[in-house]
Amino acid sequence: MTTLIMQGKPVAAVYRECLQAKLAAAKAQGTQVTLAILTVGDDPASQIYRDRLAKTTESVGAAVRKLNLPAASTQAEVLAAVQQLNVDPTVRGILPMMPLPKQINERAVCAALAPEKDLDCLQPVNCGLLYLGQSKWGPCTPRACLAILDYYKVAVAGKHVVVIGRSNVVGKPVALLLLQRNATVTICHSKTANLSAIIKSADVVIAAVGRAGFVKPDMLRDGVILVDVGINARPGGGITGDIDPACYAKAAAYTPVPGGVGVVCNMMVLETLTRNLEEVKAHA
Ligand code: NAP
Repeated sequence: MTTLIMQGKPVAAVYRECLQAKLAAAKAQGTQVTLAILTVGDDPASQIYRDRLAKTTESVGAAVRKLNLPAASTQAEVLAAVQQLNVDPTVRGILPMMPLPKQINERAVCAALAPEKDLDCLQPVNCGLLYLGQSKWGPCTPRACLAILDYYKVAVAGKHVVVIGRSNVVGKPVALLLLQRNATVTICHSKTANLSAIIKSADVVIAAVGRAGFVKPDMLRDGVILVDVGINARPGGGITGDIDPACYAKAAAYTPVPGGVGVVCNMMVLETLTRNLEEVKAHA
């Protein structure tokens, strides 16, 4: 059996080319597109992600506004910062970096985002539209999973897709998007009984657990398709996924870590940022 390695790089390259053209055209008409990234405190993973995203954003021709609040910020201060970005006509999209410090209510911050500037579908109106299948965009990581499957012509209609993880940013929304593509979806989580048996019945596994090497070869049937969302720090440096690389021998196709889903995620952020360029107005 030949195994297809679903690299993220060629997928990202297709989006990059399109984004560059779109942003150059907007610039020629005098429109500067700005992404606002809000961080509260100094979580190292958030800072790394923010700086990488900022670099990618600038490399395709959009501007970045980093708004960094101190770790001791109050709820009112964070909400005021969100409101400031909501009404700023130069800001077209907002991405708050999670996790926020303990004293900040994340749900309240998500709810405060202007729906049209909420790039990762965190705001309840956007979550509701996603649930109804009426969302004009979707959360970035789940869309990256689908963009990779599309690029490599892996159809999910009629297939049994097992999603491991039920977070609001990955597990739940990816399940909804798959359902819209007519997949038969099972969502598993830490309380799922007979997890291995369920995973074994999957045609496609989407792993979003946050545990290095969680999926093992004996949980899989031959010819399975593996999409690994996991980003776990390796003790000696670098990152590893939620799927044990020993599983690749059983797969018809898989996304590597690093080099798979993560590579495409930032392009999804920027694709949302640049959607309908002419239609976006400041939220008053
Ligand atoms: P999360 O909020 O921690 O959710 C993890 C999910 O895994 C939860 O639903 C949890 O179940 C489930 N889980 C934990 N242990 C389990 C077990 N033993 N058996 C079955 N399910 C189990 O994480 P997340 O934000 O969804 O992220 C998941 C992974 O994706 C992380 O590695 C994260 O770094 C990565 N990630 C990558 C990107 C990207 O750009 N590629 C973006 C976002 C996240 P319960 O709900 O029952 O606790």
